[in-house]
Amino acid sequence: MKIHEYQARDLLIKYGVPVPTGGRVFNQASLAGDYYTAICKEAGVSLCVIKAQVHAGGRGKGGGVKLVRSAEEATAAATAILSKPLITPQTGPEGVPVNNLLIVPGVDIAKEYYVAVVVDRAAGRPVLIASSEGGMEIEEVAKTNPEAILREPIDPDAGLGDYQTRKVAFAMGFKGKQVGQAGKVMKSLAKLFLAEDASLAEINPLIVTPPTDAHPDGEVLALDAKVTFDENALFRHKDLLSLEDPEDIPEAEERAQKFGLSYIQLEGEIGCLVNGAGLAMATMDLVKLHGKQPANFLDVGGSATEEAVTEAFRIILSDKKVKGVLVNIFGGIAKCDTIANAIVAAAKEVGFEVPLVVRLEGTNVEPARIILEKAKADIPTMETGKDLTDAAKKIAAAVA
Ligand code: ADP
Ligand code: MG
Repeated sequence: MKIHEYQARDLLIKYGVPVPTGGRVFNQASLAGDYYTAICKEAGVSLCVIKAQVHAGGRGKGGGVKLVRSAEEATAAATAILSKPLITPQTGPEGVPVNNLLIVPGVDIAKEYYVAVVVDRAAGRPVLIASSEGGMEIEEVAKTNPEAILREPIDPDAGLGDYQTRKVAFAMGFKGKQVGQAGKVMKSLAKLFLAEDASLAEINPLIVTPPTDAHPDGEVLALDAKVTFDENALFRHKDLLSLEDPEDIPEAEERAQKFGLSYIQLEGEIGCLVNGAGLAMATMDLVKLHGKQPANFLDVGGSATEEAVTEAFRIILSDKKVKGVLVNIFGGIAKCDTIANAIVAAAKEVGFEVPLVVRLEGTNVEPARIILEKAKADIPTMETGKDLTDAAKKIAAAVA
């Protein structure tokens, strides 16, 4: 699960990472000027930064991060960013809509660094990744100068040790008081990653400010934050669930969830309705083997009611990409006649304009066959498959 920068910033603050404070989140350009004025007064600055809150990196390169030096500039920048989809090196040419903006105090930057914690699958543990070449070109650095990227394994029980953060901070070139400050940031980031079951916790850039009388070695601050969570661990973090942006959940998947259906939308043209995750995977494989692509993964589960299965058909048929539907049910706990009744109900309600191939086997298959036989006249696009291969071949041929 992804969250936005402003939410990730709150988490950094909770774990003791210093960030420019006093940020505001808003969705109307008309608020930008007042927020700019208020932040300047509170933070004693004349520079603010307005940032698009989207789930894509490279915002700076795409015009989604703008430095502003007056209320008028703030309004103009907010208007510009909100007015069109943001296209960055990570979004694809159509870009992503911008619904929210973050405005934060601008800071002077002496140097930009990179720190992150991710899972190292080969090592089977988290790893701290760090570089003195942070900022907007980090992907380029990773490609052309991989030795500039430091890696330090993290013991999942003990966390990151002081000896490790000191080693990394020195290797990154931090000096004087910066070493302790940067080390603390790394420890906090590792702690956040472990305690919240994150799959990524990244600060890019982590910066040092130029020296001042109050801070002769400068200050270490996080200017950008990205955190994603391991969805398999979310049951342990009910408080995090409310952070998910509802715009991120495809509407069809939300509907499916309400009926206890496991549904994931895919790119292909064959809608699949199956019971059991393993059978659903095998069905998708067979669709591919016979030259077509599945439009979805759908496991209706063992105890699905006729109502839930009818909703499943509604969801599949409302996907405009679907050119044919393959039903593959092996009735164990699930009953074939429930599925057959749902097919009849869906046909009455939405109608199968696209080819439908049904393969049923197992519990109550005989009454199910009678139900389908009777409904044949009303569902002219329906065929039955005698086994899975036969069904996959038939649906592939029907949409060819
Ligand atoms: P992205 O990684 O999506 O491009 P960032 O938040 O990292 O977005 O911003 C891009 C760049 O903008 C940063 O590398 C930094 O140079 C500058 N920047 C971001 N926030 C601030 C800030 N509060 N003050 C000054 N400069 C900033
Ligand atoms: Mg960044």
